Amino acid sequence: MEKEKKNSPEAGASSASKSKKGNICSFCGRKIERYEPAIKGMDGSIICMNCSELAYRYYQELQEGMSGSRKAEGQAPLELKKPEEIKAFLDQYVIGQEAAKKILSVAVYNHYKRLNYMASHPDGQDTEIEKSNIILVGPTGTGKTLLARSIARLLKVPFCIADATVLTEAGYVGEDVETILSRLLQAADYDLKQTERGIVFIDEIDKIARKSSNPSITRDVSGEGVQQALLKLLEGTESLVPPKGGRKHPNADMVKINTRNILFIGSGSFDGIERHIASRLRMKEVGYRKSEDRMEVSDSESLLRYVAPQDLRAYGLIPELIGRFPVLTHLDELDKASLLNILTEPKNALVRQYKQLFAMDGVELEFDPAVYEFVVDKAIEFKLGARGLRSIMEAMMTDLMYDLPSSGLTRFRLDLDYAKQHLGRGVFDKLQNG
Ligand code: ADP
Repeated sequence: MEKEKKNSPEAGASSASKSKKGNICSFCGRKIERYEPAIKGMDGSIICMNCSELAYRYYQELQEGMSGSRKAEGQAPLELKKPEEIKAFLDQYVIGQEAAKKILSVAVYNHYKRLNYMASHPDGQDTEIEKSNIILVGPTGTGKTLLARSIARLLKVPFCIADATVLTEAGYVGEDVETILSRLLQAADYDLKQTERGIVFIDEIDKIARKSSNPSITRDVSGEGVQQALLKLLEGTESLVPPKGGRKHPNADMVKINTRNILFIGSGSFDGIERHIASRLRMKEVGYRKSEDRMEVSDSESLLRYVAPQDLRAYGLIPELIGRFPVLTHLDELDKASLLNILTEPKNALVRQYKQLFAMDGVELEFDPAVYEFVVDKAIEFKLGARGLRSIMEAMMTDLMYDLPSSGLTRFRLDLDYAKQHLGRGVFDKLQNG
């Protein structure tokens, strides 16, 4: 088919459907005005825009019908990995965070086992297995996103990150919660079947905590309102979403997505939650334990390992929301040894990446181990954390990446002097502000 030129005097000149008065649509017999777009076939037949739109809708309905019947046949089972295998995979990418990796491995294993169980019992199950949505609590830059991303990579399911801070209740300025699903649909390349068993990572879920302990004082559209709006999505609902994202629009095409099998991972730093944990632990101690049994918790970081649903509630998450995240775990602040490890060890460690980049130019790059220490010390000193390692390395390597490819060198050893020269104080000030 070739597209008819608008206003073309030649439009459909050879058409059998051309009458003296103009072009006639070969399908509905309506006269097509000269200014109307139309599509001409090889044999000279012409289709007007109304009919082509109808045909398109019909085709879409057929497609939907087909995907519906595919669903009825049950989805292909996912290749299940055992918790130990999941953890071993995570170990390749995520340093430390043993508790989180273990708990996440079990939760993900159970989730996808449930999914396969449901797929093999399409007409209902004897035992209703509930979803294992997860909340990760831990300081920023400790690997929460990396964990979730790595799981999705292992399972080969679509993955998307939603920022809870931009979500608002429907009807207010901001994004509807359904936009999360639009994103997942896009990540799945518009494959509905895949979308419906993907993983959604809701970042900064702590930022939608209730601002006040009394919910009725003011309307809290970006806090409790969003928590309420998320409930249905988390539990499992059929949600109509605009495939391209954005606000729902009455005239826009919608896709129906069932969230029953989508795994949600909430994540947040929950700054200050240690206070609630501490006070809960003390209360318990006074109430139920002898004083010699007192739990010794010295620094505030290690308190996180005792985080419990009650603490999330005290922090401002509503009980209904907490109930929909049955799995709760924590991540630790990264110490110097972990940061050193992150820089050099994982499969996609920064040092490995730079070496590979230079190898592609035929240059063997070597680092003096003192450089690693220097970079990590600076990341700690300027509170840049694991995320900062990348920016520091980038600042240090820029000149090298510019010069080396045309230098003719085949080997370069990056020593401490070079690192110090290229990482002056100004660099860190800039990184800190950026
Ligand atoms: P957040 O906890 O804020 O979600 P991210 O997972 O986004 O942190 O971490 C930011 C970056 O820091 C990651 O892309 C990764 O390069 C590095 N990183 C953070 N924590 C770890 C870790 N435990 N192991 C390996 N790399 C990590």
